[in-house]
Amino acid sequence: MHEVSIIQSMLDIAFDQAESQGANQIHQLNLRVGAISGVVPEALQFAFNSCTEGTIASDAKLEIEWVKAVCYCPQCHAEFTPHDWVYVCPRCERLTHEIRQGRELQLVSLEVS
Ligand SMILES: [Zn+2]
Repeated sequence: MHEVSIIQSMLDIAFDQAESQGANQIHQLNLRVGAISGVVPEALQFAFNSCTEGTIASDAKLEIEWVKAVCYCPQCHAEFTPHDWVYVCPRCERLTHEIRQGRELQLVSLEVS
């Protein structure tokens, strides 16, 4: 499962951060996830729950900020929000592969004590 490795690497960073701040508990992790990052929200939460078990983040909350997808059409220089997995420009109906945002997958901040 893709989500487990994502959570694992984010937790590695979170644990390092908590340790360097002398914290012994993580209360919340704030993530920014793109709509077309390929991540399934339920799977992410499930992975989070199982990966944090028995750790200093066992009671932590996973907060996800979703970033909508934005594509760019080089033909008519328009930015648009794609539907599903087909990135077709609504003006000229050309396919584009230029994605301006929506693939984010980052740990933005965390709350520790
Ligand atoms: Zn276009």
